Amino acid sequence: MNTADTNIFDSLESQVRSYSVGWPAIFDTAKGSWIRDENGKEYLDFFAGAGALNYGHNNPVLKEALVEYIMRDGITHGLDMSTVAKRDFLETFKAKILDPRGLDYKVQFPGPTGTNTVESALKLARKVTGRTSIINFTNAFHGMTLGALSVTGNSMKRAGAGIPLVHATPMPFDNYFDGVTEDFHWFERVLDDSGSGLNRPAAVIVETVQGEGGVNVARPEWIRALAELCSRREILLIVDDVQMGCGRTGPFFSFEEAGITPDIVTLSKSIGGYGMPMALTLFKPELDIWEPGEHNGTFRGNNPSFVTSRVAMEHYWSDDTLEKETLRKGERIAKAFTDLSEKFDGVSTRGRGLVRGLVFDDAAKAGKVCKLAFDNGLLAETSGPSDEVVKLLPPLTITNEELDHGLGILADATATVS
Ligand code: PMP
Repeated sequence: MNTADTNIFDSLESQVRSYSVGWPAIFDTAKGSWIRDENGKEYLDFFAGAGALNYGHNNPVLKEALVEYIMRDGITHGLDMSTVAKRDFLETFKAKILDPRGLDYKVQFPGPTGTNTVESALKLARKVTGRTSIINFTNAFHGMTLGALSVTGNSMKRAGAGIPLVHATPMPFDNYFDGVTEDFHWFERVLDDSGSGLNRPAAVIVETVQGEGGVNVARPEWIRALAELCSRREILLIVDDVQMGCGRTGPFFSFEEAGITPDIVTLSKSIGGYGMPMALTLFKPELDIWEPGEHNGTFRGNNPSFVTSRVAMEHYWSDDTLEKETLRKGERIAKAFTDLSEKFDGVSTRGRGLVRGLVFDDAAKAGKVCKLAFDNGLLAETSGPSDEVVKLLPPLTITNEELDHGLGILADATATVS
């Protein structure tokens, strides 16, 4: 993360600890792929709310539905009440997302954020299996609350909490050992060996592409082998699709490419469509063992987000246009980044769909590229264990011209630092 521990609200410095993303501007308005600061300078947004704005800023179709809902005094805060907005959302989610993919999941509203859905997934897995420990992966990121942080494979982030709350054992993510093909035999061996110290886990939690961890892409066959192992060993598989879901990698769910059906799926960020808080936990019907009240919270259901989420599904997920466009635009970035990697030493690239990383062997260069990009009107942040990866998460609705404009800025910045 491209964060600074001071912020630019100088006059309030003594009272604000906001850890603002370290761009020296105060932003004001935004539309589509563009964001404007208070002085009117425009920036192309390749950060897009860290994946919360897949349909762009103030998407006109969603805005119209939202304004109409508010103007007719639609309920904003409904807690756990049954509302029209919630019913319509659930019907559309089933019709547009679950049914066409042959998925049968119960839907839980875990709280407003990504970390809330991860927390509920961990709780449910523990309750269902009666086991407590979790397998996570190197470089994983799952959130900032105590449970989610315990399964985050980043010791700097975990240091914020002292001792982890949940017993988690990190395993190597795909390609952690460069080029070593993984078949999980070692994992089974460790599971069977009482001397290994590994308790039988309740669940494995995995991202198909690690966003915060540096755009590390798991191969579909690796994901399939993991799913098969979990099913054979009766370990629940949680796919954390908070950042990679809602079409970021192409299909609505990032695990579709691997052809698996996880036991539990976490969604947040772009599921609300308009950049307002919303999260969902999906789980197989047989895992539905919580008593009412075992997982609740004041902001579990956000009715305006139900409205924009429903309209986004109707508009963007009634056919495969968005998916195909995302894959095509992803290839456009891949080509531009491959050209850069061939031209400059110490530069490589990886990604899937519209999550793409430009990887520098010197992290300082990645930071400089983001700074130069900012100066030239482009927002992109770094990710990865040493912040060595310039991560691109543009809105899926970005145009070819906008994409090429942004890629040009990044190419110039890369040439300058190389
Ligand atoms: N899981 C993943 C994969 C994420 O990328 C994030 C956020 N970057 C989270 C969970 C946590 O989401 P939130 O910041 O909304 O709590």
